[in-house]
Amino acid sequence: TEVLLEVNQLKKYFPVSGGLFGRKQGDVKAVDDISFFVNKGETLGLVGESGCGKSTTGRMLMRLIEPTEGKVVFEGKDLTALNSAEMRKMRKEMQMVFQDPFASLNPRHTVEQILEEPLIVHGIGNKEERKRRVREMLEVVGLSSYHAKRYPHQFSGGQRQRIGIARALMTKPKLIIADEPVSALDVSIQSQVLNLLEDLQKEFQLTYIFIAHDLGVVKHISDRVGVMYLGRLVEITTSDQLYDKPLHPYTKALLGAVPIPDPTLKKDRELLTGDIPSPQNPPTGCAFHTRCKECMEICKTERPQLKEIEPGHFAACHLYS
Ligand code: SF4
Ligand code: MG
Repeated sequence: TEVLLEVNQLKKYFPVSGGLFGRKQGDVKAVDDISFFVNKGETLGLVGESGCGKSTTGRMLMRLIEPTEGKVVFEGKDLTALNSAEMRKMRKEMQMVFQDPFASLNPRHTVEQILEEPLIVHGIGNKEERKRRVREMLEVVGLSSYHAKRYPHQFSGGQRQRIGIARALMTKPKLIIADEPVSALDVSIQSQVLNLLEDLQKEFQLTYIFIAHDLGVVKHISDRVGVMYLGRLVEITTSDQLYDKPLHPYTKALLGAVPIPDPTLKKDRELLTGDIPSPQNPPTGCAFHTRCKECMEICKTERPQLKEIEPGHFAACHLYS
């Protein structure tokens, strides 16, 4: 296996100001020192409750949000060292699919214009070639060329997400960062879009980072899964390991929150209680300690580091040190 993307000690701190004179009052550590890699051709799921920093992480990988610190290495190239023109060129190789397809599609543009745009931006093909590519891509995502002259509002939510996916694929990227791509869709449509993403991955040898708040959705599609809590990566391993043998109490709680068909099994499951602490004022030590059933004295003062507990299985928790 070959590594496509490597993320090294990535941080995003947003300054907070307030009060009468708008003085700086500290930082919100939206992403606080995370490291991981993604292999070529695999799907890495990135999961956590809202505000855990998963979307910020996704956007930082493409430098749609500038990292405060850290490196993003794509095919051996440090993206954080590129100037904006070089970075724009790199975005041909990495594209995003967003949660709300309607919000990310220009309502006054036809589907043809929407899909043609990334080709124009990156100077790919002449007019005729671009039109042909648009029509081919519509077929690839399960629409057809007669949809080309229509506008986004003329499509259903699932079809709009297909358009969003088609647009992301126009430049033949290697990496797709999908930020909750099915969260806004009806359950019946979700699996269609997930199946499409899986088919496209095989057909075009794509690598995915799949961001979601729900472990149930991610299990289906991911080879490995990383779990985030308050800006940190608390566990990362293969999908099978994570679901069969989760190590971190937060992961266990999240798994307990995945709906299961048999309610009689429910009593054994750990459920997540308590609110997510404010990222502006996170707990000391282990950020999860205010909600953790296994909290020990050390957890309140010392921050656990992400460590390899068994081969390929990393967790940040004092229970394993
Ligand atoms: Fe719970 Fe302590 Fe592990 Fe944090 S470090 S998850 S508080 S046991
Ligand atoms: Mg989000």
